[in-house]
Parts: sequence; structure tokens; C-alpha cells
Amino acid sequence: MKLSLLKLTVLLLVMLSCSKQVDNSEGGKNGNKFDQEYVLNIDGNRIVIKESNGKYYFSEDEILSERQFNILKSLQNNSTTKARSVYTSEFIKYWPNNIIYYKNSSTKANVSNALNHIANRTGVAFVERTNQTNYIEFVNANENSSDVGMQGGKQIVNIYNDITGIIVHEVLHAMGFFHEMVRSDRDNFINIFYSNIENGQSHNFNVRPEAVSGGDFDFGSIMMYSSYAFSKNNQPTILKKNGTEITEYQRAEMSALDAFYVREKYPVRIVGPDYFCPSGTYSLEGLKSDAVVTWAFSGNSALYSGSSGVFNRNPNSLGGEGSIVATITRNGVSFEVNKNVYVGLSPSGINYYSSSALVNKSVMLKYGTDITWNPSTSYYEVRSLDGILISPMPNGFNPSQNNSLFVSGVNGFRLADPYSGISSINVEIRYYTSACGWTNWQRMNVVF
Ligand SMILES: [Zn+2]
Repeated sequence: MKLSLLKLTVLLLVMLSCSKQVDNSEGGKNGNKFDQEYVLNIDGNRIVIKESNGKYYFSEDEILSERQFNILKSLQNNSTTKARSVYTSEFIKYWPNNIIYYKNSSTKANVSNALNHIANRTGVAFVERTNQTNYIEFVNANENSSDVGMQGGKQIVNIYNDITGIIVHEVLHAMGFFHEMVRSDRDNFINIFYSNIENGQSHNFNVRPEAVSGGDFDFGSIMMYSSYAFSKNNQPTILKKNGTEITEYQRAEMSALDAFYVREKYPVRIVGPDYFCPSGTYSLEGLKSDAVVTWAFSGNSALYSGSSGVFNRNPNSLGGEGSIVATITRNGVSFEVNKNVYVGLSPSGINYYSSSALVNKSVMLKYGTDITWNPSTSYYEVRSLDGILISPMPNGFNPSQNNSLFVSGVNGFRLADPYSGISSINVEIRYYTSACGWTNWQRMNVVF
């Protein structure tokens, strides 16, 4: 019983997809809905746009404004550099400040679930509109459809199916996201079978004129169509490049990549210094949801203290690269934001071991084990207080300069001949890291 209900639900979801109901009188497929059809040729792709009351349908549920349609038109034929740059920078407008204002005039109970679903996985907040100029309004309709991106002023999100995943899908359109299958590089991942598509529905298989690809193709995206979308004969309209069906199709939740793309356009960033020495304070920029943030440090041995993103260098740390990690959790759903940082060296943890077994008595610097100095970010200088000449280890590359030695890339130094008879030397060492600059000179008595 339970299983069949589940199957029925899955079947229902597959049938409904994000598109309109197939049996309503407004349907594009019988031509009543649309006033006109335009065919654009952009980069060799045939793009069909259908017009209805000054709205331009890029697909059955993706609506472009006249402004956006004009940008598309400007890309036709001899597309100029200017048209291309206008397209890139102005075609889609994202909501500023990671806040989307909304008004729910629909009777759909799952609107709030859908908004929470997106807010849980991103930094955006959905705030009920009071007097803001730009906002989305959910209304009951006999189709599911939305403008693509922020239009300015009120924009309608039409909802037919009171299903969380479908409402999420339409809100993602309003936030500026297209179907996964309209990516300009989609032909590398899928084949479209136009002979199986219902008459009048080929615009659902348009290609978006972008210059760059979107990374991994996401068959499990909540913005991806099924293999049988708009099929007129129960034959597939979309198959993977290897000829198999899209088994990942779903309208249950945003995929990991869906959430990634939203966070890319509505970024949550860690702000603070690229390195810290001896401590650094970090905060989150762009987080608008009421999520709980926990901070951690990954890599190296720097310490984290406090609850507000303050990190202190471990006094015994040699320094090096690591990552500050903010884990953002809302309603049990988490995602991470990272920032790579460089932690400054703390010389108090540096020790040495000496050896008289070599031809030249040698001193190896260590921090636990031998230190490897990174010539681009860290090095040291050593000078003898006894007038004894010192030189790098045999693989060193810096010449001795009197009794002072500037060393990088090697982990120790040795006494120049003929000092094999002595039992100890006094030296001073100072250390440089790009994070901290030079330390003070530190005196060291080396016993052989
Ligand atoms: Zn859609």
C-alpha cells in the first residue's frame, strides 16, 4: 500500500515535471496561449521564443521580459562583442543582498516549505514583503511558471501544483536559474530527439547562448527535465550521450550542485585577513538566513578560540597554509564555506639537533622533525657570535657572507672548516615568514 502510494507520487511528479498541465485550455500546444512565435538563430542554434501579452516564453515555464528578449535578439547573426557582453552582464538580474521579498497570494500550503528548502541550503533569506518595490508574488494558476531572474517591480510566480519540489523549481527560475538542459554545452552530455517532441513544444529544448559551460552536467538537478518530457509518442525526448535514460530525474530536493550554483550567484563568503599572525578575526558576508554558524580550522596546528570566528596561532606552530571553515546549519541542513589562509610562524617551537659526525659539524633545525623551509614564504638568517664561519648544508644555495648566513630552502647549517675541534658555538637566528615578517634575533648555544 505504502509502496504503491510512493510509486503513484513518483509517477505524478514525473508527469507534472515543472511544466504546465497538459489538458488546460491555455496550453501552448494548441496555440491558444501564444500570440506569436519567434525563431532566433544564435551561434547556429535555433531558438524558439513564444510571445503572450508582452511576455516571452523561453520554455513553457521560463518567462523572459521584453528587455531580455531584446538582448537575445541582439545576439542573432553577426553578434557583436557588445551584444555578447550585454548578454553576459545584463541578461539575468540576480536579487541584491541575498534577500528575496515575497508575497504569498496563493492557497498553496507548500510555498513556505519551498522557501525554507532553498534558504536551508544557501545563504539567501526570503522575507515577507511590506513595502519593497521588487518582489515575487505567488498566485494560484493553471500552470507552473516564472520569470527568469529579477525583473524589477512585482513579478508573478504561477503555481498550479502544491508540491514543494515544483515550487522550489519555479522560485529558482525567479532567482535567475534556467533548466539544466538549456546549458550551451548540453550537447556534450545529452541528445535531444526532436522527432519525439510534441508539436509546438520544441521551445522547451532551446539552448541558452552562453560563452562558458557550467561544469559537471547535473542529471539529478531539480532544474533538469526527464527523458520523456514533452514526448508525443512515449519515446524519449532526451537521452544521455551514452544512450541511456536519465534515471536521476527528481523533483524532491535541490541537488548538491543546484545548491552550489545558487551559492555561487548568491555568495556567502568568509571575510578576514589572508594570513594571521598572531591572530585573525573572520566573519561571514552575505549570510541572510537565520542559520547557526560554527567555526573550525582545518590543516596546520593553529588554534581556534571563541565563538565569533577569532583564530589564534598556536604558539608552537611552524606556520603554513590551512583553511578556515564556517559550517552553516539551518533546520538540520548544513553547508560549508571555506577560506584558505596562511598562519604565521611561531619560532618558540623550533629546536635543533647537532652532529659532529659529519666532516663539518652541523646544526639541523627541527620542529618535531626536520623543518622544510619554503623559499617563497619562509626562511631564516643565522649569524655566529664567535667569529666562526658558517655555511649552508651541502644542498644549500646561499653563499656564506662573513659570519652571517641568509638561508632559505634548507633545514640547517654547518661550520666551515677548520672548526672541527670546537665543542660549542653561540649563534643568533631570526626567522621570516610572509605572514609575520621577521622575528627578533634569538640566541642559541649549540653544543656538539
Ligand atoms: Zn522550469
